[in-house]
Amino acid sequence: MTEERLSFQAEVSRLLDIVAHSLYSEKEVFLRELVSNASDACDRLRYAALTQPELSADDPNLKVRLIVDKEARTLTVADNGIGMNREDLVENLGTIARSGTAAFMRSLKESAKDGDAKKDVNLIGQFGVGFYSAFMVADRVEVLTRKAGETQGWRWLSDGKGEFTIADAADLPRGTQITLHLREGDDEYLEEHRLAGIVRKYSDHIAIPILFGDGEDAKSLNSASALWMRSKNEITAEQYKEFYHHVGHAFDDPWLTLHWRAEGAIEYTNLLFVPSSKPFDLFDPKRAHRVKLYVKRVFITDSAEGLLPPYLRFLRGVVDSEDLPLNISREMLQHNPMLAKIRAGLTRRVLSELGKKARDTEKAEEYATFWENFGAVLKEGLYDDYEHRDDLLKLMRFRSTAGDGLVSLEEYLGRMKEGQEAIFTISGDDIETLKRSPQLEGFKAKGVEVLLLTDPVDEFWVPSVGSFQDKPFKSVTRGGADLGKIQGGEEKPAEEKASEGELTDLLALLKLTLQDAVKDVRASERLTDSAVCLVADENDMDMHLERLLKQHKQ
Ligand code: ADP
Ligand code: MG
Repeated sequence: MTEERLSFQAEVSRLLDIVAHSLYSEKEVFLRELVSNASDACDRLRYAALTQPELSADDPNLKVRLIVDKEARTLTVADNGIGMNREDLVENLGTIARSGTAAFMRSLKESAKDGDAKKDVNLIGQFGVGFYSAFMVADRVEVLTRKAGETQGWRWLSDGKGEFTIADAADLPRGTQITLHLREGDDEYLEEHRLAGIVRKYSDHIAIPILFGDGEDAKSLNSASALWMRSKNEITAEQYKEFYHHVGHAFDDPWLTLHWRAEGAIEYTNLLFVPSSKPFDLFDPKRAHRVKLYVKRVFITDSAEGLLPPYLRFLRGVVDSEDLPLNISREMLQHNPMLAKIRAGLTRRVLSELGKKARDTEKAEEYATFWENFGAVLKEGLYDDYEHRDDLLKLMRFRSTAGDGLVSLEEYLGRMKEGQEAIFTISGDDIETLKRSPQLEGFKAKGVEVLLLTDPVDEFWVPSVGSFQDKPFKSVTRGGADLGKIQGGEEKPAEEKASEGELTDLLALLKLTLQDAVKDVRASERLTDSAVCLVADENDMDMHLERLLKQHKQ
């Protein structure tokens, strides 16, 4: 047996140290993570076996087993799923930090500041580092695994203190067995009723059986049927929530649960969730969604490009199609016309449900939470998806100079002043600075509302959309934003106004002094207290965008 000793990547080591020493009281979530991984491994094998049936032919009934040895004080979570080879082991359980490692540690640090470090260990699965939660209850973890289709098995062993070993192992069944040598005081995880309780609590919805014991007559601890296929009135809010946690790698409450079946020309079932808090990878450059695609209960992929538009990537959940061919490869999926139809149906339905929420004025606060989390993502649809632009514009909410709440574009139009022909906007990095901007003085004096835009994406959708109900968007930092025709505010008494002649002289003097530093100097109605402000020319780039681009070039 050739044993090799390897070091955890430094960041992983630090993570393990925190996990092992956490005083977290709900350590039981380690089981949720291990069972979730085992069920993922079975899903992946089932998918691979669609094109290579020989992979699972010798042992086709996929399942997870919990096996305890009270004398040795070990708990084993075993699956007959896809398994791992040596490279998989090194990559997944050790040397290479997974993308969520750093994010998870940051989140731990932040909650430590709030004095709440214990609570956040619960979030571990969200960051794609759930396996390491095994070290909350174990001081030694052994992984025996053999990958489907390969003959060589492997043994991974670690005490979670910086290093692990990998050695080859003979005569292993297909799949993965993870054995936890329990820490002193954690004997409760050897008790059947305790384990059964945890499985019911977190993993009941898992679609493959989770058995207690390794005999033929082992009993199932979960209901083992796909939750989304059950009818709505058989599912409790608690079950929906646990499913959302599992499928979405999330730990908040769903803000919105959408469960429906499309029938007719194409048939599919959806169970989709809108989270109530922002996932950490929402602005990942790939803009990939995280909804799982199944075909007739068989997991196909969680990265079906084209299943959802990128601007709905905050959705979590599953889509299960009855019509897509089971043996479809992930590559072919992308060009499948059926998938395009499902996407169209999903998009329409999700936007319409969001529309209902947006119109419900009694629950404006609820909608505001959603908007604060995902508004910036939805806005991408304004230039990405022309077809749904109108629906999306109705979902938009803005901060404005008219108070602290959020306003819709319809509300804005309803408050426009007589003679006002544009929707005025100003963009910048934060609301408070914008509110103090001298560019707004004249607008305030005339009681003209200005929308405050602080999302970088605003620089893209505004020019692309151009107008709403025939009213153009106009930045107050542009020369052409003219207040002259707008009624309202107090006229200055005649003696305070400068005469035409005085103004012409002053402008000429300023132009002469500033020379090439500015393009033009104009008299304007936009200021009341400040003497001057900078504006961009009508056809030039918006000033905030210009600043943003300059920052990016550095
Ligand atoms: P995540 O499940 O979010 O990817 P984990 O830390 O829970 O993160 O697991 C890390 C990786 O280890 C998994 O993505 C998978 O590739 C591998 N893995 C863990 N458990 C198993 C298992 N039982 N069978 C096969 N692969 C596994
Ligand atoms: Mg996991």
